[in-house]
Amino acid sequence: MKQILPGATIGIFGSGQLGRMFAIEARKMGYRVHTFSPDKDTPTGQVANIETTADYLDSASIREFAKSVDVITFEFENVPVEAIEIASKYADVHPKAEILYTTQNRLREKTFLRRNAFPHADFFHIKTLEDLNTATEKIGFPCVLKTAGFGYDGKGQTKIHSPAEIEKAFQNLKGQEGILEAFIDFQKEISVVCARDQKGNFSHYGVIENKHKDHILDTSFAPSPISERIKSEAIEIARSIAEIFDYVGTLCVEFFLTKNEKVIVNEIAPRPHNSGHLTFDACVTSQFEQQLRAVCGLNLGSTEMYKPAAMANLLGDLWRDGEPDWPKALQHPNLKLHIYGKTEARPRRKMGHLTALADSPEVALKTVVQARRNLSQEKL
Ligand code: AMP
Repeated sequence: MKQILPGATIGIFGSGQLGRMFAIEARKMGYRVHTFSPDKDTPTGQVANIETTADYLDSASIREFAKSVDVITFEFENVPVEAIEIASKYADVHPKAEILYTTQNRLREKTFLRRNAFPHADFFHIKTLEDLNTATEKIGFPCVLKTAGFGYDGKGQTKIHSPAEIEKAFQNLKGQEGILEAFIDFQKEISVVCARDQKGNFSHYGVIENKHKDHILDTSFAPSPISERIKSEAIEIARSIAEIFDYVGTLCVEFFLTKNEKVIVNEIAPRPHNSGHLTFDACVTSQFEQQLRAVCGLNLGSTEMYKPAAMANLLGDLWRDGEPDWPKALQHPNLKLHIYGKTEARPRRKMGHLTALADSPEVALKTVVQARRNLSQEKL
């Protein structure tokens, strides 16, 4: 196993906030970072040593990028698998291209869960209106129609409440393949952020509890006050998913916890995850440093939390009436502000987040929510 040491260059496909926080950790430890994406002046590029702006299908640029780095990872799961495959010829890529292939498409991801007997929502592959009619009869209402590929943060999702809504929902697919899922009447959403190194060692950050608003993550806090049984079930599922994939890097598994206390996998993210952002301030080793250590062939770090923590996302909507009131939010001494350096604040766009540590997750959550309210000066 080749160890990549400080001074070496880490290549990263994608240039968003996950890459930015990864780059911050990498540079703290003396690595150089080279990001590759179609965009300029990006959240990752502002922190990286080198920012390559080229299309993900530009094979000559990918080759040049891959030859110039010591190891490659990605921060965005919609990077075309072809890009990873080309890069893999010149440098090691972690996690592997086939993991990206499985998880970037909901149909392949759910099929993986079914094949390996992980608990998941019932689903059907939808190509035609006829398929959708038959599938809704089997699944019942309400149900959720999603595009099979390239969906995140609720993009490409339609909840169907009755037969009258079927045709309109089908049109929302806009000719793309879809997946119809049973709607899960959950009591809460939880996630396990974990990591696996090149020797197969596994570590995790326990169970994080998440609240979504309009399908976008709104707040997370940890540890989630759930039973030991649910906690170990969720962690065990995450561990076996990582094992089956022979995973190297940071991984997140998102779950629904049903009203009758069943754990159901919703999604697998083959990268650090928004629900793990609180590890950046609250843990000995953040999810980003863990990714770095894993891809560099180093030992994983301790996931110990200094204190319970919570995170609140800051979406572009906060900028609706001008610049948020930063000093007011930062009056709280335990609050950490993260801004991603995106040049334009669009509604629903993740612009930054707040983290707070406290003696209990409930107090930490109240602190970030209150601070966020102060930011918007009650405008929202
Ligand atoms: P996704 O992009 O599939 O993770 O969905 C984003 C959010 O939509 C989830 O975190 C849930 O809050 C909600 N959601 C998605 N699928 C379902 C489902 N089958 N049942 C209930 N809620 C869902």
